[in-house]
Amino acid sequence: MTTDRGTTHVGEQPEAAGEQTGIDEIDVLWISEGMSCDGDTVSITAASQPSIEDVVLGIIPGLPKVNLHNKVLSPSLGGEDYLAPFRAAARGDLGRPFILVIEGSIPNQNIIEGDGFWTSFGNDLETGQPLTVNWWIDQLTPRAWAVVAAGTCATYGGIHAMAGNPTGSMGLVDYLGGEYRSQAGLPVVNVPGCPVQPDNFMETLTWLLFHAAGSAPPPPLDHMLRPQWLFGRTVHEGCDRAAYYEQADFALDYNSPKCQVRVGCWGPVVNCNVPKRGWMAGIGGCPNVGGICIGCTMPGFPDAFMPFMDEPTGGSLSSVLIKPYGAFIRRMRGITNAAVNKEPRWRHNEEALTSGYDPRWRA
Ligand code: SF4
Ligand code: SF4
Ligand code: SF4
Repeated sequence: MTTDRGTTHVGEQPEAAGEQTGIDEIDVLWISEGMSCDGDTVSITAASQPSIEDVVLGIIPGLPKVNLHNKVLSPSLGGEDYLAPFRAAARGDLGRPFILVIEGSIPNQNIIEGDGFWTSFGNDLETGQPLTVNWWIDQLTPRAWAVVAAGTCATYGGIHAMAGNPTGSMGLVDYLGGEYRSQAGLPVVNVPGCPVQPDNFMETLTWLLFHAAGSAPPPPLDHMLRPQWLFGRTVHEGCDRAAYYEQADFALDYNSPKCQVRVGCWGPVVNCNVPKRGWMAGIGGCPNVGGICIGCTMPGFPDAFMPFMDEPTGGSLSSVLIKPYGAFIRRMRGITNAAVNKEPRWRHNEEALTSGYDPRWRA
């Protein structure tokens, strides 16, 4: 279905109607051994809506029991006991449905086939050779109840996939193909951001868990498979500095509180809710606090947004076009501001009441 924002409600597509719901226990198998800096895992430890602890400890009513397997949060700091559920899932005998979370971009192993490994996540028990992330994805994605790509590297390729890279890195959908559907009939769910905004990820995971329990429809995704309700607006639409833009009042250096489009902000064309939601717990939000938006959530990141500190392509034109309108608006606002910065004339300590009050009860 096409909505007013030109997006697709995956949940209303027949092929995405999840067969397997009513699940009461589920594993989350989280692999960050792609081309990754683990920044998304670190980011998600700051989530509060809900927190990862609330989900894992079963504090949220109606969610299935969740068994989380992430090496950073593993009490055994990795090792065979940590790898055991991954190996079981790859063999098809985990015994429970699982959500696969991929963090980091996927290298093109074909480029160096036979000459080494771009990634590794545990070793092959027979040969002792590293098992690549590509191998794990090949084994796990056909069996996964749902697959989530966390962060811009996993969703679209990100930093490691920029022009000139030697690894041929790509996003998960580039690797699996757009036709991929999980056991629940869902495409890969993309939650971009570098790193991912922690509550964006946890809210999406929680929606999926409610769907697994059978109490929610599949999450609505847009045409780039992002949660529609999180990525349907631009940075500019949520920026604290938007009024400066409207008045064509532009910062010329990074010390100014004004609109930063002239010093490199891409906010007008970037889908991201961080200015509204903050980086974590409502704190920060790039342009609100003086950091230009460099489009880190976007499929074209980073190449389409470089060089970062220059005025964006199209930015000069739009900032020139808005100048006469902005100057007029600024002047009108100045006049109105002066008018509303005065108290009304009837507020005085004189004998007569001049407020316009009409004492109707008096004869
Ligand atoms: Fe690190 Fe950013 Fe890639 Fe996440 S998206 S793995 S934070 S570089
Ligand atoms: Fe838009 Fe960026 Fe200016 Fe904010 S700082 S109003 S996001 S151009
Ligand atoms: Fe990334 Fe821009 Fe969002 Fe900041 S505001 S998180 S730079 S997309």
